[in-house]
Amino acid sequence: MKVQCPYRCDYCHNLKGATNHWWLRPQDADQFMLVRWNQTLADQEGYEHICSESCAAKALSQWMAQASGNLVRTADKHTFAATVTH
Ligand SMILES: [Zn+2]
Repeated sequence: MKVQCPYRCDYCHNLKGATNHWWLRPQDADQFMLVRWNQTLADQEGYEHICSESCAAKALSQWMAQASGNLVRTADKHTFAATVTH
């Protein structure tokens, strides 16, 4: 007997119904990308499951916060290097 594996939204923990149209997001720090639900990709590691536009917005703001965090760290390093040189 095939075990049904239900998917949950990674942001609001909604359970996916058979007819729901969801999205997948490859966990990529350099670019924000959404792909249409694809059964093969949904089972792979490294993909977030997103149920709705509002959850996609949450994913985007989280990704943007992470991206600007990286910029801040880079800037800090430069400041530090400059301080050491002087
Ligand atoms: Zn959701």
